Amino acid sequence: MSGQPVNWARNVVFGATELRAPASVAELRDIVRGSDRVRALGSGHSFNRIADTTGVLVSTSSLPPVIEITPGRSTVRVAGGVRYGELAQQLHGAGFALRNLGSLPHISVAGACATGTHGSGNANQTLAASVTAVEIVTADGELTRLERGGADFAGAVTGLGGLGVVTTMELELVPAFEVRQFVRENIPAAAVVGHFEEIFSSAYSVTVFTGWRAGSGHRVWQKQLVSPPVESGAAVPGAAGAAAVQSVTAGSGAAGGGAASWLGGRLAGGPHNPVPGMAAENATEQMGVPGPWHERLPHFRLAFTPSSGEELQSEYLVPRESGGAATETLARIGDRIAPVLQIAEIRTIAADDLWMSMAFERDTVGFHFTWRQDDAAVAPVVAAVEDALAPFAARPHWGKVFSTPPETIRGLYPRWADFAALLRRYDPAGKFRNEFMDRYFPPAP
Ligand SMILES: Cc1cc2nc3c(=O)[nH]c(=O)nc-3n(C[C@H](O)[C@H](O)[C@H](O)COP(=O)(O)OP(=O)(O)OC[C@H]3O[C@@H](n4cnc5c(N)ncnc54)[C@H](O)[C@@H]3O)c2cc1C
Repeated sequence: MSGQPVNWARNVVFGATELRAPASVAELRDIVRGSDRVRALGSGHSFNRIADTTGVLVSTSSLPPVIEITPGRSTVRVAGGVRYGELAQQLHGAGFALRNLGSLPHISVAGACATGTHGSGNANQTLAASVTAVEIVTADGELTRLERGGADFAGAVTGLGGLGVVTTMELELVPAFEVRQFVRENIPAAAVVGHFEEIFSSAYSVTVFTGWRAGSGHRVWQKQLVSPPVESGAAVPGAAGAAAVQSVTAGSGAAGGGAASWLGGRLAGGPHNPVPGMAAENATEQMGVPGPWHERLPHFRLAFTPSSGEELQSEYLVPRESGGAATETLARIGDRIAPVLQIAEIRTIAADDLWMSMAFERDTVGFHFTWRQDDAAVAPVVAAVEDALAPFAARPHWGKVFSTPPETIRGLYPRWADFAALLRRYDPAGKFRNEFMDRYFPPAP
């Protein structure tokens, strides 16, 4: 194949012999049935070889962009290749919302759910946790539907692309809501450690940005609910809904809404891009201006290049109770991190029950790193971060750069063996396997 396909960051050249973009599910099923090796490609925003194949890479971008809202059940059935940004606009127009979004709206629904993608918020789970049903073209080319509560469901939703090609997902909805965003700057590092809980419970979704440079202040982005998604927790299934509503009070109280000073920092005098040096207009609106949920919850706007575009990313997720201690630990190697870093983020994610989710059965803190795009310089620092966070049982983000050994990964996921068995059962001939899957889930038991 001439002109090998690459991922968004262009640090991965896929090894596929062919790139196909089926226009119908029937065509997709024929491709899967007729291929020895095949793998789905979403929007290509992962930074490692998880989406790679030595056979046919199947882009989901040309499949019919199904978006069907079922108001009675408060769910939407959406094609796996649809991007969150496009879905969100349609949902908002119909008066609905998703509880949360990642930092960028450019990613596909199935690709994001496959890797455990998340936003931030003490009560907000990974995006995949809102999935209630999934339809997958499996290795034999048949279409299989799995529903929440079914035996394989919790293993299949964050399935790392290993069970087949997801054609549609059904996602829980809440009523549309409004959010306002404040940026606070110059928060001292000691305050982030000492007031970790206060900071992360100060709004519906909170992100701390840091350069890990000794002596420099941190920025806190607070995304506060202006209007709650529901009158009472009852209308939103699951505990996260009720907690989300409670966080409205915290969001407008503890941090004083738009109060000028807080924890030794001050309210930003103008809008920011999360990445230093990048234009503020690429970022979602700040300065406390209320707006629709989907135009505030991501950091980046759909119409612009997210982040810096010239970058690598890593992320490690540790139990929530270790958040302060892990922050202190990373600060101690800040002088190693800072020279190869563009920006780092700290976020929180609520526990879920999806076997391969980085937040599986534990409330979580994510330490995210946007690195300079320089493999050789970044690799040893990634290793140093992994060493530093190892005592905290850090789970690496499935879609980002990491070097955590397979035997460590295995010990981090209580349902690892069940997932490995699920892969073998759904894909006995290893059609969807690639080097990445073989490394972390060897084909033989
Ligand atoms: C600028 C930037 C910001 C980011 N911000 C965040 C963030 O806020 N939070 C976060 O958690 N992550 C974040 N990420 C990581 C990103 O969300 C994940 O890498 C995600 O998987 C990307 O989705 P995608 O559609 O591009 O998937 P791809 O990279 O295309 O694929 C990822 C995996 O999903 C599989 N897959 C894709 N589509 C299907 C399908 N239809 N059926 C079955 N398997 C499928 C692929 O085979 C592969 O294994 C960010 C990435 C970038 C580049």
